[in-house]
Amino acid sequence: MNYSRREFLRQGSIMGAGLLAAPTILTASSLTAGVPAILGGAPVLANKQWTKWPVWNPATDDERLLRVVRSGVWSRAKVVAEFEEAWATAVGSKRSLTTVNGTNALITAISQFDIGPGDEVIVPPYTFIASIQAVLMNGAMPVFADIDPATFQMDPREVEKKITPRTKAILPVHIMGLPVDMDSIMEIARQHNLIVIEDSCQAHLAVYGGKKVGTIGHAGCFSFQNSKNLPIGEGGAVVSDDDSFMDRCFSYHNLGMPYGTAVGVVSGGSAIVGTKVRLTEYQAAIGLIMLERLDEETNTRHNNAAYLNSLVGDIPGIVPAKLYDKTERGAYHLYPFRFQENEFKGLSRVAFLKALRAEGVRCSSGYDSLTDKAYLNDAFTSPVYTNAYSAADLDFKLFVERNRCANSELLCDKEAVWLPQNLLLGPRTDMEEIASAMERIYKNADQIKKKIS
Ligand SMILES: *Cc1c(COP(=O)(O)O)cnc(C)c1O
Repeated sequence: MNYSRREFLRQGSIMGAGLLAAPTILTASSLTAGVPAILGGAPVLANKQWTKWPVWNPATDDERLLRVVRSGVWSRAKVVAEFEEAWATAVGSKRSLTTVNGTNALITAISQFDIGPGDEVIVPPYTFIASIQAVLMNGAMPVFADIDPATFQMDPREVEKKITPRTKAILPVHIMGLPVDMDSIMEIARQHNLIVIEDSCQAHLAVYGGKKVGTIGHAGCFSFQNSKNLPIGEGGAVVSDDDSFMDRCFSYHNLGMPYGTAVGVVSGGSAIVGTKVRLTEYQAAIGLIMLERLDEETNTRHNNAAYLNSLVGDIPGIVPAKLYDKTERGAYHLYPFRFQENEFKGLSRVAFLKALRAEGVRCSSGYDSLTDKAYLNDAFTSPVYTNAYSAADLDFKLFVERNRCANSELLCDKEAVWLPQNLLLGPRTDMEEIASAMERIYKNADQIKKKIS
């Protein structure tokens, strides 16, 4: 990527100016009055230079990466250990173990809490598929608990309803990078003696009740995939304060060889069943570079999101995702809001997205609901499942009935809109322009509807 120093300074100074005064709002509101781009007007955000993702600064980053590449030590060694320590420190956890990706961080954590065939894990339906696949890869049964559409997050009241004698764990997912109501989840877990594994793959350095998410439950899992807020390309981590659990996770990720075993040892000595999902040295080097920017970037996203909330909150039919009271900082891997077509003269979400893109704002309608898709039935017809569960447990039609989640379907099928995280990395004036684009669409919803449908 080509993120020059000059570009960086320019963005910085605009941001500074935006914080001092607000004359830009005049420009923004005059744009609002214009003809929407989809009807032939000039786009509000024409030729906007969004922050390119991932951020790479050749002047400082090239050399740090090349030093590791030139060393010839590429398999797991001291740079990976250094990154694990830095990540544990960043989130405030005693230990951290890296893996090849977030999916395998989840698979590792679930397996080392001995969650497997016959066990139920309560999961949200509104998540990335990896959250559910990690449960299935361990032979456990995902049980879907609906979300609160106001926050987009797993609803603790729904979790409680889904507890059975076979429930072993809860997998809250801090979706969009916004914290789940963890106080309620932890209280339910205490009452029923359940394990809590936080899927924090979108929520790097989000803060809830004074703690970074991923450190509230028994373990937390992170992803460092290309799009994530700490990007390595591929990568993941498990964090926990539980030493014996973390020792087992290390062993599992290194072919079952005991914790601390030198990597590259070819003799036996494996103590447990394990796989091999180790991070490389050059990936860890990238991770260390990215980690230095993460805290500041997270603040910028959180502050811009709060500002954007305040601007779009006045537009009828645009409902930003709410944060729980104890949320001190959202990671905003995505900026989510609900689009309500009845407030937009019946303009469809598809048409709204088209109109918003025409104004120069990248956006999407997000996830499909995960509770009724073929991958589940594929698991249920495999030997691991047919040996461990009853025919009634595995009847796909009954499963789909039991796991229906109306709120998740509402967001998936009708209301959810996401903006990508890099839109939140620019100056505050960008937020004003994004809000103006939406306001302009709102004011002209009738005409847009006529033209598009
Ligand atoms: C990205 C993601 C994962 C999986 O991480 P990968 O690194 O892509 O394997 C798991 N859960 C959620 C919620 C994610 O967004």
